[in-house]
Amino acid sequence: MADLVSAPPDLRDAAGYATSLAAALTDPSSPLPGFRGPEASTTELRVEHGRALLAELHIQGWNRYGWPVEAGGLGGGARHRAAFYDELSRAGIPAPEQNVILETIGPPILRFGPDLAARFLPACLRGEESWAQGFSEPEAGSDLAALRCRASREGPDGDFVVNGQKTWTTLGHLATRIALLCRTGSTESRHRGLSMLLVDLDSPGVTVRPIRMSTGTNETAEVFFTDVRVRADRVIGEVGQGWAIAMYLLQYERGMYAWMRQAVLFGLLGQLAEQVPAGARENGATRRALGEARLATAALRARSGVTVRRLADGETVGPDASADKLLLSRAEQTVLDVARRVLGPMFVLDPGAEAERWRSTWFYTRAASIYGGSAEIQRGILADRVLMLPGENDR
Ligand SMILES: Cc1cc2nc3c(=O)[nH]c(=O)nc-3n(C[C@H](O)[C@H](O)[C@H](O)COP(=O)(O)OP(=O)(O)OC[C@H]3O[C@@H](n4cnc5c(N)ncnc54)[C@H](O)[C@@H]3O)c2cc1C
Repeated sequence: MADLVSAPPDLRDAAGYATSLAAALTDPSSPLPGFRGPEASTTELRVEHGRALLAELHIQGWNRYGWPVEAGGLGGGARHRAAFYDELSRAGIPAPEQNVILETIGPPILRFGPDLAARFLPACLRGEESWAQGFSEPEAGSDLAALRCRASREGPDGDFVVNGQKTWTTLGHLATRIALLCRTGSTESRHRGLSMLLVDLDSPGVTVRPIRMSTGTNETAEVFFTDVRVRADRVIGEVGQGWAIAMYLLQYERGMYAWMRQAVLFGLLGQLAEQVPAGARENGATRRALGEARLATAALRARSGVTVRRLADGETVGPDASADKLLLSRAEQTVLDVARRVLGPMFVLDPGAEAERWRSTWFYTRAASIYGGSAEIQRGILADRVLMLPGENDR
């Protein structure tokens, strides 16, 4: 990643950047404090808020730190981006929703498809476009190597024609492009026959249908591809390199996302402490439950902080990121279970927007042990590839 030669010296390290960003986010003469407030109630409004916030941050340059100059950034790395999410949360400003996907797909595109990153990442930083991650299919989630969405080469230019379906695509109905993991080899080739393409979601033959979740909002989508033409220059990396890129990506999806969420969870714990009903404040069980939720979030912060440092230093985190993902699902579910208990009848019965937000966040945290790879799969990875435990047949 390019260094920060053009940045003021006090912003070149992440700690200095964090201090200056904190001041900017609370500067009353800036529009940035106007973005404070609770998360909007619908996905569409959250993405809209993200667009406006990114546009404003971009004018001042704050969200360009952590991304290379060649891709529209100002240099720096994962430490700058981690400080960015921490400071937004500390200032009470919801992070741009679309950055969840940018943090997942941005690093692999920078590494394996720098030309594509240079073409399209700057518009993400300006808030003008957002991306989606097209991995899962109805018959291929945990077993990703079984995916069937096919990209066949056709014509003299070696362009692709894509046919198939993706599902559970986060923010798919609001995205501009999708990083599509698809089959370019035979079905039997499993993970060796996969490639990754960056496909425009407004291409002829693409149909996107939002999926309404139990939260009541459209968090994910189904995406259908019927004879969709994709130019050969949209391959990320090489044809057949899809699995390696997906594995690189998962470190960010599990590690950097865990960091983003610890910042949000600490914010929620702060709000919860203010909303504990007066009679429950001195209750021992309530205090213990709040303490446990804080501990789970602190464990997530400590662990994902290590991962962010390793990623920033260019290390391969690989299967270790499964521990971050498990701590993430535990912290998400513990914090929101405690909120449900502590807020009492208000959590279930109150018709107001505040209670609705707690309920909807609680519902979404149920998915934390599924998205990004289920908890069972993460435990399997840790057992096999980190702890090197014997398989069931080896005992
Ligand atoms: C809110 C949400 C957002 C998502 N966003 C995206 C996205 O943006 N892009 C994307 O591509 N996907 C996304 N997903 C999909 C997600 O990655 C998959 O749901 C997940 O990997 C599980 O796959 P599956 O749903 O097909 O379940 P399955 O693989 O069918 O698993 C069903 C159950 O069996 C268990 N199981 C399966 N195999 C094993 C095994 N070998 N050992 C032990 N247990 C096993 C699983 O743990 C699970 O409990 C999202 C999912 C959710 C819920």
